[in-house]
Amino acid sequence: MANIEDKNYQEELCKVRDELEMFYDIGNAMRTTLNLEEILYVILTAATSHTGLSFNRSMLFLVNEKENRLEGKMGIGPDSAEDASKIWAHIEKNKIGLEELIGAETQFDHLKKSKLNQVIKSMKIPIREDSGLIALTVMEGMPFIINTAEAKQKARNEFSMIMDLDEFVTVPLKAKNKVIGVLLADNRFNKKPITTDAVRVLTMFANQAGLAIENSRLYEQTVVLSNSDSLTSLWNHGYFQYLLGEEIKRSSFAKSRFTLLMIDIDNFKAFNDTYGHQAGDSILREISGKFRDISRKIDIIARYGGEEFGIILPMTKKEEALVLAERIRKAVEISPGLKNITISMGVASFPEDGDTKEALIAKADKALYEAKRSGKNRICV
Ligand code: GH3
Ligand code: MG
Ligand code: MG
Repeated sequence: MANIEDKNYQEELCKVRDELEMFYDIGNAMRTTLNLEEILYVILTAATSHTGLSFNRSMLFLVNEKENRLEGKMGIGPDSAEDASKIWAHIEKNKIGLEELIGAETQFDHLKKSKLNQVIKSMKIPIREDSGLIALTVMEGMPFIINTAEAKQKARNEFSMIMDLDEFVTVPLKAKNKVIGVLLADNRFNKKPITTDAVRVLTMFANQAGLAIENSRLYEQTVVLSNSDSLTSLWNHGYFQYLLGEEIKRSSFAKSRFTLLMIDIDNFKAFNDTYGHQAGDSILREISGKFRDISRKIDIIARYGGEEFGIILPMTKKEEALVLAERIRKAVEISPGLKNITISMGVASFPEDGDTKEALIAKADKALYEAKRSGKNRICV
């Protein structure tokens, strides 16, 4: 029986109290957002902050079920020993807690420049026995702690060398008994040994983190589905209006430009009359895929109405937009899957052509009308 007066018992109580407090803080931080990037950021910050689990570095991988592989999503930690001592001195001196760390915009900035983060984000690991410990963590659904010479020797592979791993731990991220990812942590810079106690706490933390990730993914899927057009999977009209508004806000704030393309298929009624509406629907799907292939990742593509589309080109001046617009027009014209189909486009740029949604759409529409009037299969500004 434990004795309340017992010193060990007292210490144990203190430890449990500290752990509870930490989990409470982390839980609160995770409840502040449903955005996946932010959730991952909270998780990794909690794993590395000194009021949290206080590992030197932490890295997170998520399972891509379709490709049967793990994909690196984020890595937090200093890039060098020098970097490490600078960051810790700063945190120590200013007594920065978890809450402030998570709230700090500068941290997010740091992430963009972090070499560790870039390397992790480029990682794709097949889920196979011979892919190493990170894959095994998913397959076995249990943590691995690499803290003996023998284990270190066995764990050596391409990944461990790139990441300069020595002693480290991996834990599965679980949601409803399914492994959805892996958290890897180490003490690369202060070389503090990883204890079984630390692994125990990290495992509890990983369960909490796994659920938060799953919730945020379910939420994001719901957002995507409810804002997508079912025929083409492009954004629907309502969400396009919302995103255009957001782009105006962002560009006004950053004093940057963007360009709006309004697109309409030429003589589409005649196409439907000749080949039927089902063939017409296939064309709408095919052309949407073409827009997706040709545009950049940052561009926002929506089905504005029946056979009309809107594309927002963030951070793009009119001259640059015209190059992209011409590439799209040409691609449709020459595509074998879009035989005899051409499109017309109207172009309007923020802020010179308008600084409200209504003004920009009206300008782009006017230009589109001009493109139709002057012969179709062309772009007007
Ligand atoms: P224009 O070159 O002037 O644009 O001529 P148009 O025939 O394309 O004229 P308009 O843009 O007004 O035509 C819209 C036509 O697009 C009407 C309808 O037949 C077709 N359309 C609109 N939505 C759909 C759809 O969801 N599926 C199919 N198959 N056709 C659609
Ligand atoms: Mg039309
Ligand atoms: Mg048309």
